[in-house]
Amino acid sequence: MKIERIELHNLVGKIDEPYKSSMGWKTTRNTLAVKVIADDGTYGWGETGAGANDFADVARGIVGMNPERFGSVWQSIVNTRYQGGGYAGVASNVASAIDIALHDLVGKSRGLPVYELLGGKVRDRIFTYATGLFYTEKDVNDSTWPDLREEAQSHAEAGFKAMKMKIGGLTMDEDVDRVHTLRRTVGDDIRIMVDANEAYDAGTAIAMSRRIADANVGWFEEPTSSQALDDNLLITTQSPVPTAGGESASTRRDVARLLRRRIFDMIQPEIICVGGISELKLCAQMAEAFNIQFVPHFFNTHISLAAILHVLATISQAPPAHPKEPFVNEPATEFDQTVHPVRSALTDPFFTQSEGWVDVPEKPGLGIEVNEDALDHFRVGDVVVAD
Ligand SMILES: [Mg+2]
Repeated sequence: MKIERIELHNLVGKIDEPYKSSMGWKTTRNTLAVKVIADDGTYGWGETGAGANDFADVARGIVGMNPERFGSVWQSIVNTRYQGGGYAGVASNVASAIDIALHDLVGKSRGLPVYELLGGKVRDRIFTYATGLFYTEKDVNDSTWPDLREEAQSHAEAGFKAMKMKIGGLTMDEDVDRVHTLRRTVGDDIRIMVDANEAYDAGTAIAMSRRIADANVGWFEEPTSSQALDDNLLITTQSPVPTAGGESASTRRDVARLLRRRIFDMIQPEIICVGGISELKLCAQMAEAFNIQFVPHFFNTHISLAAILHVLATISQAPPAHPKEPFVNEPATEFDQTVHPVRSALTDPFFTQSEGWVDVPEKPGLGIEVNEDALDHFRVGDVVVAD
């Protein structure tokens, strides 16, 4: 079997009611959906955030390679950009999407779910937490936070046992009040986490952590610039709330830098930029070796969610001695609940949770199908082809 061509679909969905993090308002949600087609007609899907033309320039080099050779395909993408750290960014994004698509393709070709290609599963379902609780137009103008309270209740009623909110987008006093409001709204039995998207300097982040610690916050995500390793280490050392980060890490090299100095208490690689299924599994094993909790990031479509579920199905419970407990030794992942028009239409099945758990897909490959009508509806510009 040979890789014959790669199709790139730049998908953009407009959001009717924008929502905000510390980085500003989101008015669209995007992804680059990547279809890899072999010479026998078998195909697989991946996704990432790179631009289609940059992607095509890098991806042309793998046309003609054997899609079953995940490792050599991955290396041939990353190695071409190795010098000067160029693997971080577009090469890592391309490697991510191609690696996900090749696992889907080869799984379909062999009639096996992806977890079988990774050595087999050790669990049938994966624990997830709800991501949402962004700032809304209404909440920005109403300091009783009506949308925050209503959305938190809806996640709790849907069965989620853990949820994550944004901070860093309003004043310190306002955000401290929002965190305590969330705790009062959901009660003591639901885990809450906060994500600042790098909004603070180190000293402010430590001060913020001290002000929200009594709301029993499970983690403080990206408190300051993720490039500032010493600052993050200072926060992790002094913050009463455990820290989390790593969602923009490229390949094992970035993740190793975060693990070996214990920059964060939890590590959160993102499958669409860290390097795909192969690299996410490797990072899970590295985190286990460093005794750091592994909680992968998820914010795109159910192409990448399916890929994360397959990886987590195969990783160890660590440490093994403790009874199975999410956020202690049982793996968990993020389940973004924000409005994403492309995601809602793109794949079948659309994964759902029960009491926070999502079943691992059982069909060959990733176990999802991509809706061609949705591709046509959301695609901006023509399909870009690398062949
Ligand atoms: Mg985040």
